[in-house]
Formats: sequence, C-alpha cells, structure tokens
Amino acid sequence: MFSHRRSCYCAFCKTQRKVYKSKNLSIFEVLALIFLSVLITHVVYKSFDPRGLAIVGLFLLVGEIFTQVKWRASMTCQNCGFDPVLYVKDQEQAGLKIKAFLERRADSPAHLLRPAIKLPTQRAPAKSQGVAKPTAPSQNLSLKV
Ligand SMILES: [Zn+2]
Repeated sequence: MFSHRRSCYCAFCKTQRKVYKSKNLSIFEVLALIFLSVLITHVVYKSFDPRGLAIVGLFLLVGEIFTQVKWRASMTCQNCGFDPVLYVKDQEQAGLKIKAFLERRADSPAHLLRPAIKLPTQRAPAKSQGVAKPTAPSQNLSLKV
C-alpha cells in the first residue's frame, strides 16, 4: 500500500520489472522535507529565521529533481534497454537505443547470467489464402535486432 514502486512488464521483452509510481514528490514527502528544513533552520540560526525559507525551497527543489530523475531512470528496462517515454516521443530513436543497448549487453559481463531476451517476432502470413501479399510494405528496420 505504501510502496513507491509497482510491478509491470516491459512492452518490448515482456520481463517483469518495477517502476516508480509517481514522478513527483508526494504530499508526505513534501511535508517531511519542510519539517526537515525547519529543523535545520532552527539548528543553524538558533531560532526560526526567514532565511529558512531559502532552505525549504532548496530542499523541495532538490527533492523534486531527484524524484524525477529517479522516475525517469526507472522507466528504461534493465534487460533490453527499451525506453517507453522515448518511444512515445520518437520511435526511431527508441529502436536505435535498444539496438545500442543489446550490442553493449552482449559484451557486458553483468548480463552473462541473465536469461536471454525474448525479442518480438512477426508471424509468417498464412499460406491458405493462396498467394501471400506483403503485409508490411514499410517496416521500421531500426527495431529489428
Ligand atoms: Zn525490456
């Protein structure tokens, strides 16, 4: 219930992985950062000081940036390198990123004991309809590895 991460499946390699639920600070994290900055302000200035508002703003800014970077890093699949955020923006770049990741993965000793990637495949057209027509005249070659 209070977990920050949830399980999902990679859209490319279909392995289960965990991603962060929210890309922004939650209300509890904001309150905790405000409390921490008030506490630090009281320790540094020996009383409540208006300069503490700068500390509150700095803590909230750093916390928000850290949370967004953490969320963005968790979006990329560690098994195949598929990035769904990049895929929504630019499919060609996402395909090139997967291709580069898989080339690095083959040489990386960290991936030696991981299971093989189940790459998406295209089904062959059924032969029962007579002459088979080409089903995909324009194919995205960058997604083929
Ligand atoms: Zn994947």
